Amino acid sequence: MNSEQVFATEQQLLSPGISEESRLAGVVFARGSGSYLFDLEGKAYLDFASGIFTQNVGHNHPEVVTQVKQQLDELWNVHDASTVARARACQALNRHLPQDLTRVAFFTTGAEAVEAAIRAVFAAAPPEKQRLAALRYGFHGKTQGARSLVHWDVGYSNQSGNSVLGYAANCYRCPLERSYPSCEMQCAKLVNKHISSKANIAALFFEPVQGAGGVIVPPPEYWPMIAEVCRENGILLVADEVISAGGRTGSFLACQHYGIEPDLVMAAKGLSSGFPFSVLAGREALMASGEFAGAGAASSTYGGNPMSCTAAAATLQVLENEQVLEGMEEKSRRLELGLRTLAMEHPVIGDVRGMGMLWAIEFVSCRKHKTPDIDAARTFYQQCLLSGVRTCLGGNIVRIGPPLNIADADLDAALVVFDACLAKAGAK
Ligand code: PMP
Repeated sequence: MNSEQVFATEQQLLSPGISEESRLAGVVFARGSGSYLFDLEGKAYLDFASGIFTQNVGHNHPEVVTQVKQQLDELWNVHDASTVARARACQALNRHLPQDLTRVAFFTTGAEAVEAAIRAVFAAAPPEKQRLAALRYGFHGKTQGARSLVHWDVGYSNQSGNSVLGYAANCYRCPLERSYPSCEMQCAKLVNKHISSKANIAALFFEPVQGAGGVIVPPPEYWPMIAEVCRENGILLVADEVISAGGRTGSFLACQHYGIEPDLVMAAKGLSSGFPFSVLAGREALMASGEFAGAGAASSTYGGNPMSCTAAAATLQVLENEQVLEGMEEKSRRLELGLRTLAMEHPVIGDVRGMGMLWAIEFVSCRKHKTPDIDAARTFYQQCLLSGVRTCLGGNIVRIGPPLNIADADLDAALVVFDACLAKAGAK
């Protein structure tokens, strides 16, 4: 098939198909290598969305390829039985997870791990605590339980009766119209007021850094303040690190930046180089009793399959062998400086924010009024793709997340493309 035939087939058969922006750019990806993707015609693209924040050590890392190919010859799936691959994935995670998260259960998608966390919470919760809480603009997946934790103004309905506790600290668009630090963290205080006024909340589900919501990075005090009040009120802390685990923000878990210790953690994307693999990690008391006590109780058909476990163990091994996290601070600074310099030169940028290798550019038509400019974001995304850099578009926000081990020269090359495409986005 050529590109046109692919698009024609997808348009006819796929519901709802890929985005118009991507289709108009005419790109069909055929192959990946390191920080690059290649289309059917062989043109190279820098992948600044890392698949979908999955390729932390790049596409088709040779070490991951070798180990997965070997596993392919040995064993693909088996149920209720021990495998070497799964034991290796356990060991690899154990080297990186906080010490008190001693137990893991394996699934295939982020949402599946979130559902498992919901089950774990309810299994442990006393009868009077039968509600879950979450923050606005957090994203936790599209299965029914996960969806019940998603509170967005558009796009996701929520009929669960779970609680919205207020906003994560979105300093660019502060819902309380305050400025940091003179605000004295009113947003965290508001969340805490809700927490202490309700006796029925079993757990707070939260992304330490909200990803799909537009890379919202709270100030350092935000999570410690909320964690303290959750502890005082017997509310479990359930960190959704589906996007951030595996080093995307510069430490293995984003919670580590804030010095908080969650009771349960969901992890996925960046752990396994794109193979379907997700994890619920937790404290012994939560993970080895109730819902999860029996053998096979936390399993699913493909959860913990040897192929995905091998991909995960190999990816984490690469992270260690190549000291990827050790090199990230400098790389992150380079990307941040580049993006902030662009923000000074292009008024179409309202805000640049992020940490590690997870950044967002927010597009506005008027800086003073912070008027969201969806068209400008779309133009930027499409022009970047046409110019050989793939990013991640969502409304008026473009997310930037290259592989964590991207070469400095590739970072610089993308920044040059961004500069030219921002000029086009601003001029339209
Ligand atoms: N939680 C977070 C924080 C996510 O970013 C996502 C996916 N974007 C999910 C959960 C759901 O993961 P999946 O699409 O694999 O079900």
